[in-house]
Amino acid sequence: MTAAIDIEIASDAEPLTVRQALREATALLSSAGIESARLDAEVLLAGALDLDRSQLYLHGEQTLPARAQERLRSFILRRLNHEPVAYIVGRREFWSLDFLVTPAVLVPRPETELLVETVMEYLGQFRNSKFEIRILEIGTGSGAIAVSLAKEIGNAEIWAPDISPGALEVARTNARRHGVEEKIHFLLGDAFMPVRDRTEFFDVIVFNPPYVRRDELDTLPRDVREFEPRLALDGGPDGLDFFRRIIPEARRHLAAGGFLALEIGADRGQEVNLLFVDAGGYSPPRLYQDYAGKDRVVVARMLI
Ligand code: SAM
Ligand code: GLN
Repeated sequence: MTAAIDIEIASDAEPLTVRQALREATALLSSAGIESARLDAEVLLAGALDLDRSQLYLHGEQTLPARAQERLRSFILRRLNHEPVAYIVGRREFWSLDFLVTPAVLVPRPETELLVETVMEYLGQFRNSKFEIRILEIGTGSGAIAVSLAKEIGNAEIWAPDISPGALEVARTNARRHGVEEKIHFLLGDAFMPVRDRTEFFDVIVFNPPYVRRDELDTLPRDVREFEPRLALDGGPDGLDFFRRIIPEARRHLAAGGFLALEIGADRGQEVNLLFVDAGGYSPPRLYQDYAGKDRVVVARMLI
């Protein structure tokens, strides 16, 4: 494998055109059993050239500069070791925005866009009204959810805690990148701790908690298991630790009529529903399905 790369993609080899490099890179990744070889090759090549993926095809016949060829080679070696492409190129698109991503944060998932979408739908007419909307996003990670909501909701003020200092640094950079740093307070600490002294209530509490069952962590794909932060994935022995804690506790922080929106593991909908019922004080929770048809988001309002 390495020999092939040295021959085809080393900087002292024949220069390749963008199209040829894409073909070589795809072949190498797919022969190593990487499922999304073509897509990954496009993202890595675009990263090596500092282009957007969509721009690659405009440059198909151009020769790859030696520096880009060398970068591509090192990117491919990393991908062959199963490092996620988002960490290699340092970015991932979420909600059509470009986010900085480092190994300190979970790579934002496309399914999590459903959480953002559901929050927006629930806010309905209050979005962009004259009332300020106070949002708490626990476990902000890369800041993907908080920044997307800040971009969409003109009248939002957002509090975004995380227990990981490294993640908060990434989130702050993303808020600056998208010009919403004034609207988000990034706070270090455990769950509700950083806002425990606030006297106002939140209209929205949103959380994509770690929800992988602890004994399943070692069965996750290598890309996730070996590279993404455990702190972002480990949901305790049955994957429900955070739900058990957050659902009852959120009642003390939610305004009447406000709502709690959570991402959940597929197939956990009924158990999470029961936790809402046990906690009391909520409207019957509603489940929403992701594009794969799996339960992925649950929302319940605080009764007035
Ligand atoms: N919000 C991001 C997203 O949706 O892409 C990241 C979600 S990730 C599944 C869970 C996040 O919760 C991680 O950033 C992790 O550091 C954070 N976290 C874990 N335990 C926490 C705790 N006790 N209090 C606050 N945040 C916590
Ligand atoms: N969807 C993630 C996975 O790859 C889990 C994210 C989470 O625990 N919130 O398994």
